[in-house]
Amino acid sequence: MLEDKNPQRTNLENLGEFGLIKHLTQHFELNQPSSLTGIGDDAAVLDFKDKKTIVSTDLLVEGVHFDLSYMPLKHLGYKSVMVNLSDVYAMNANATQITVSLAVSNRFPLEALEEFYAGVALACKTYDVDLVGGDTTSSAKGMLVSVVALGMADSDDLVYRKGAKPNDLLVVTGDLGGAYLGLQVLEREKEVFKVNPNSQPDLEPYSYIVERQLKPEARKDMVELLEKLAVKPTSMIDISDGLSSEILHLCEQSEVGCNLFEDKIPLDPTVISAAEEFKMDSTMIALSGGEDYELLFTIDQNDFDKIKGNPNLTVIGHMTSKEEGAHLVTRANTKIALTAQGWNSFAE
Ligand code: ADP
Ligand code: MG
Repeated sequence: MLEDKNPQRTNLENLGEFGLIKHLTQHFELNQPSSLTGIGDDAAVLDFKDKKTIVSTDLLVEGVHFDLSYMPLKHLGYKSVMVNLSDVYAMNANATQITVSLAVSNRFPLEALEEFYAGVALACKTYDVDLVGGDTTSSAKGMLVSVVALGMADSDDLVYRKGAKPNDLLVVTGDLGGAYLGLQVLEREKEVFKVNPNSQPDLEPYSYIVERQLKPEARKDMVELLEKLAVKPTSMIDISDGLSSEILHLCEQSEVGCNLFEDKIPLDPTVISAAEEFKMDSTMIALSGGEDYELLFTIDQNDFDKIKGNPNLTVIGHMTSKEEGAHLVTRANTKIALTAQGWNSFAE
């Protein structure tokens, strides 16, 4: 897992900055009608006509947000794009362009950046977004990645964090907790590898959760599904930090409360078994784990029939008045106040 599979090392200095940018971006095409010009001038030119423009950005820092000892650079490129597209989809908008800015130290050869851009290219192709610019510079130590994602939407289609009303249903896409547990598995293997570099980890039983950590998918498909079902959420957010923190954002900005039902939280069987193995509570992981990049939204109760039975959409609770506060209703039917860390078991 940690070995260098690509022994060729071309020093970045051999190419020069312009040669490097050209080399890395030469195979990217513009496919979006709104991309008038992309890489190569002082700035890209976009045309969103009468649509609203959506802009989102994230900065990822080596050692803080990612660890290259188990994160292959291709996956890092892919994930860096995903975390940004996820924010655009969470506005119920379509992502159309990205820029990618990089700072790397001289420890990175050209081949490493090629790997990174292979991941960016795969993300662009799969999600139909154009790479239209970026910046490339050196860092004293480590790698930094900054991605900007742009998107567009009709102003009537946009969904904000505010807008949830009491009695709206709280819905989540996919399942939760996998990305966090995948990280626990990777961290554990890293420690094993430090002690015994010849160890061959068997990650096969954990493939689902490791993939959730290393190769998350932004839920463009869910935005498209909601459109097909003619459901416009009343509020929406993507799950980057953990379910409870995102619920609290919706509650605060919509000025409502919430009842979240523990037994409704969707968990993959792998998440349940890995949580047991790590002696962790799977509900706690779903609430606080983060990095699942699923969508969390509220809908009017009248729309329930439209989403009912869809295996990708789970109703996990409902909104209440602000005065009632935000609570987890446990399997034992006790009510616990939600906090950004998960839940506060001493409350009430
Ligand atoms: P400037 O000095 O005006 O910032 P640069 O030489 O940094 O220009 O960039 C030249 C062109 O290459 C610009 O279109 C810029 O957006 C693009 N570019 C630079 N670095 C990257 C990168 N890492 N990924 C994609 N495009 C890049
Ligand atoms: Mg520049």
